[in-house]
Amino acid sequence: MNEMTEKPPIIWLNATVFLTTFLIAAVGVPLYAYHVGIDSSLWWIMLATLCYAGISITAGYHRLWSHKTYDAHPVVRFIFAIGGALALQNSALHWSSDHRVHHTHVDDNDKDPYSAKRGFWYSHIGWMLREYQASRYSDYDNVKDLQKDPIVMWQHRHYLALTLGINFGWPIVVGLITGDVWAALLVVGVLRLVLNHHTTFFINSLAHVWGKQPYTDKNTARDNGVLAFLTFGEGYHNYHHIFSADYRNGIRWYQFDPTKWLIRAFSWVGLASGLKRSSGYQVEKARLQMQLQRMQQKAQAAPKTLLETAQQHYDEMAVQLRHYYQARKKLLDTKAKKLREQVNMDALHAQVDELKQAVEDQRRHWKQLMNQLKQHA
Ligand SMILES: [Zn+2]
Ligand SMILES: [Zn+2]
Repeated sequence: MNEMTEKPPIIWLNATVFLTTFLIAAVGVPLYAYHVGIDSSLWWIMLATLCYAGISITAGYHRLWSHKTYDAHPVVRFIFAIGGALALQNSALHWSSDHRVHHTHVDDNDKDPYSAKRGFWYSHIGWMLREYQASRYSDYDNVKDLQKDPIVMWQHRHYLALTLGINFGWPIVVGLITGDVWAALLVVGVLRLVLNHHTTFFINSLAHVWGKQPYTDKNTARDNGVLAFLTFGEGYHNYHHIFSADYRNGIRWYQFDPTKWLIRAFSWVGLASGLKRSSGYQVEKARLQMQLQRMQQKAQAAPKTLLETAQQHYDEMAVQLRHYYQARKKLLDTKAKKLREQVNMDALHAQVDELKQAVEDQRRHWKQLMNQLKQHA
């Protein structure tokens, strides 16, 4: 497969769609804007359409169907199925199947459908231009659960009609309302589609190359705030590859993850339920472990005692963190169950406060240790 001479055949349909839409967006749209003009309302409609199709991929195809990080009301699933067809990225069933293989075999050049180790171009778009994995093209064994979702199967069966209908139908409707069908087809249709495509593709290419690896270096996935901004929060890809069952990708409040915000908002109004999160303990432990591992590699010149202290501190902290997160979870669960036995709650509160204090002291000490080690790096 890797030899230049034995490249599999080109998928002409994909190649033609990607190339012509790109050329129309890059050349046709500016020419039309210059010679005829494009009404400003169309740009706003384009942006809204871009967001709708994009979020249908991130909140629907990705976090709902590929990873089952929450359950969604049929109305929401229907809206995502239409938006996914608008994004022109194959059916939810097919997309999810590919994506699950990507997660199980990440960076495996023969199995990962868009392995980043085969280069930027391949992971971005090249993998769709040739019959690289024709053998498993209609093998849907790893998405048996999704085959039970009637909306997924309905979209899969009628995918071609849906995608053509919505990709032409919506811009034409917009054009009839705004009075310029050609401009609407160019901007809301083609330019929007090309932006949808390449921002999603960035997750397979750029998010495996550019950014930080705070949680794991066992795969190429990176955390990147700029990409998160362009992809409705999917840029926190290092976190995502290690904690893929989490409905969040950006877990901090200041991280840009509108997909997470939307899912949470849906849960408030009963349109989503069963939102899954990783335990705070596992997340913090993974981060500390990475920091320690990195320091051990970098600061080899540091005094041995300092390195030993750091290792020991990590071991102790891991135990303490587990106690703290367990106690905190117990407190939250008790609160949720509304077991308002005053004495019990007071004791729990006191325990959590005490553990929190201890953990915070340890976090401070840890930072000092890491800074000390940094000086030897
Ligand atoms: Zn994923
Ligand atoms: Zn990935």
